[in-house]
Amino acid sequence: HSKHLGRNGFNFYNEALNKNLQEHMELVSDLHKALEGGQFFLCYQPKFDFLTGEINSAEALIRWNHPQKGVIGPDVFIPVAESSGLIVQIGQWVIDAACEQCKKWQEFGFYTLGVSVNVSAVQFQRDNLEIVVEKSLSNYLLPANKLELEITETVLVSDTDIVKEKMAKLRALGVKFSIDDFGTGYSNLNYLKNLEVETLKIDQSFVKNCLTDEQDRAIINAIVQMANSLQLKTVAEGVEEEEVADFLKSIRCGAGQGFYWSKPLNSDEFIAFLYAQNNSYMPKI
Ligand code: C2E
Ligand code: MG
Ligand code: MG
Ligand code: MG
Repeated sequence: HSKHLGRNGFNFYNEALNKNLQEHMELVSDLHKALEGGQFFLCYQPKFDFLTGEINSAEALIRWNHPQKGVIGPDVFIPVAESSGLIVQIGQWVIDAACEQCKKWQEFGFYTLGVSVNVSAVQFQRDNLEIVVEKSLSNYLLPANKLELEITETVLVSDTDIVKEKMAKLRALGVKFSIDDFGTGYSNLNYLKNLEVETLKIDQSFVKNCLTDEQDRAIINAIVQMANSLQLKTVAEGVEEEEVADFLKSIRCGAGQGFYWSKPLNSDEFIAFLYAQNNSYMPKI
């Protein structure tokens, strides 16, 4: 019907736009159903402490088991969840599910294992996180020091009284903060003072090619040295090779995370991984 209109290209553009909008709206409506229908699940990726050689914590990473499309990763739907405001409810579900899982790890005997949860800037600004977190912690009788919130520099750079207050309330509960993707945003170094955040997660873009890229190594080195002298912890993200792990250890980076140790695992796989890991620490007679 619109063949003759398409000649200037304008209508094609419109149609593409419409299609995008339609897809977007479908995704939003599917996200609502996903929340109600329990289609989200969490995977867990271990963080390895270079000093002790043990897993001290795992990061919860959301996945969506879409009934038609299969498993969808967060990069596809978190931005949509943010723009539609649904991130608040999804984020609440993530916090609750992560606390429940961490309690289960304790019941399996892994008492020291902590869990970290990604909190997007929109979620941090809009939700009463201190109430949500307190509720989940008490739901599962999980000690607050087992929960860590991974926020980005975007949250910190807004530097409003509301953000400061919220962080203070969460810290008062005993919850810890780490800065995710550190080095890629606009850092507010003020937040590195006074133990407002505990850990810097060095972004994987610096880690990925650090064996061949001298500048990446220099940046990682600078971040780790600054963190160490401020008594902040460091976790390097995206470690895929042994040589990278060796380099990080040699410059006294605190911990590493990446495919070299494990990709994100579903809850059953992760428990199996923990047991296998634990067994290898047992003395061999
Ligand atoms: P992130 O928090 O920086 O998580 C790290 C991402 O890198 C994860 O992707 C992880 O699977 C991937 N990764 C880990 N190790 C390696 C490695 O060695 N090599 C490579 N190439 N990649 C590695 P994922 O799970 O797709 O998550 C992407 C982003 O989505 C996360 O980045 C985080 O910002 C966001 N996200 C994930 N779960 C949640 C959530 O529950 N809530 C919110 N708001 N955001 C989430
Ligand atoms: Mg993260
Ligand atoms: Mg990251
Ligand atoms: Mg990221």
